[in-house]
Amino acid sequence: MSKDNFFAFLLASSPLLSYFAGRFSRSAGLLSALALGAGSIAALGAGLGRVPAIALIVWTLAALAHSLVVNADNPGSAEGERKLVESKERLGELEAALRVLKLEFTALAASEKKALTLYSAVKLLSEAMDLESAGKQFGRYMKDYFDTADFAFYVNDLNSGVPELFASGEKTGLSTEAVSRLAGGGLSSLSGIVVSEAERAVLAPVLHAGAQAGFFALRFPPETFNKTALAEAAREFADEVSFAVRRIQLFRQVEWLSQVDGLTGVYRRNALDEKIDEEIRRAGAFKTTLGFMIVDIDHFKAVNDRYGHQFGDFVLKRVGLLLRSSVYETDFVGRYGGEEFGIVLPRADFAGVLRKAEAIRTRIESENFSQGFETIKVTVSIGMAHFPRDVSAAAGRSPGGTVAGELISKADAALYRAKETGRNKVVDASDV
Ligand code: GH3
Ligand code: MG
Ligand code: MG
Repeated sequence: MSKDNFFAFLLASSPLLSYFAGRFSRSAGLLSALALGAGSIAALGAGLGRVPAIALIVWTLAALAHSLVVNADNPGSAEGERKLVESKERLGELEAALRVLKLEFTALAASEKKALTLYSAVKLLSEAMDLESAGKQFGRYMKDYFDTADFAFYVNDLNSGVPELFASGEKTGLSTEAVSRLAGGGLSSLSGIVVSEAERAVLAPVLHAGAQAGFFALRFPPETFNKTALAEAAREFADEVSFAVRRIQLFRQVEWLSQVDGLTGVYRRNALDEKIDEEIRRAGAFKTTLGFMIVDIDHFKAVNDRYGHQFGDFVLKRVGLLLRSSVYETDFVGRYGGEEFGIVLPRADFAGVLRKAEAIRTRIESENFSQGFETIKVTVSIGMAHFPRDVSAAAGRSPGGTVAGELISKADAALYRAKETGRNKVVDASDV
């Protein structure tokens, strides 16, 4: 190739060279374009011919312009660098915002779950007919809500005025004594939420119309004990359940009233029958014993006839009170008929039942029944029977015959013997 031809070849390929150099980098494109521009002008002077030389200049300028445009977005450029940094920052910001959103979503889902749990708990208490199983389910809701298994929920009993355990966690050590310690005193008039940092415990009263309907105590492991958050959660829980707890109180009272005889304050006959059945089953299962007695006021018809029905009622009421105060808390006194009372004494041996019956008889014998200007004396006759001593092995297996039925009829037969043989005495079924 001659020197002129080489020169022409180089010039002809120069726009392409400058174009590719420009794609690589802006400065390489500029340099090659300048060199080629100068070369074209030199070629013009060297007599290449005006038209091809001008075409080459235009060609080169086009390549140069293209290279400039392309390089405007070149990542190697300062502008591109800045944009890249900006984009990275923006990405970082977006990722941080996403993390916050995720956290917020988790918190929202958790609080929605809590709200749902609280709603279910209130609904349960508002509709419950069986308080025992309602208490168990309520305990599960409380555990979910507060995320601890160490808690106890008490409802103030309207009849006795004593707080009664309604629900508790499976790991609770929060007896009324323990809660009393937390409260630093009585439990019947808690004024507000008590937080004990030493015990990591929260105690909250449940107030309804200004009066205390119940209270609950919770204890937490160190990692979840957050004083302010838990006090706030307990306050909200207490507020939400207060109305439903009041319902539980009233429900219990109605249930109690339906079991108790209005005149004498002892169990009604059907309630006492249930207790006898229950205690016989328990005694059978745990191989323990059970005493039963029937107490009948002597010549009570004469009391009514002589002093009037109202005075008779007064005597019945007083006898009911005397009987209740003569037996243990765990014994059951019921009104069996007009002036007849039944008493169930779980886990008593027969000598003990006999002594108790004798003590009741003398106590009533020594009592002065006074109302208005009248003071009278009454006596009672008592028949007693004992389980399993007085119950045949066949009892409960013969059709229509129950263990309780046999025990009651044995006591009744003993009572009849006491009446027959002079009244104001105790007769043991084994002597009949
Ligand atoms: P006994 O010594 O044999 O037991 O003689 P009693 O008079 O006590 O026995 P009876 O069964 O003949 O009479 C029971 C009386 O109890 C009849 C009834 O007037 C009276 N009575 C039953 N229920 C009530 C009540 O709720 N109030 C009053 N005041 N009297 C009642
Ligand atoms: Mg009588
Ligand atoms: Mg009678």
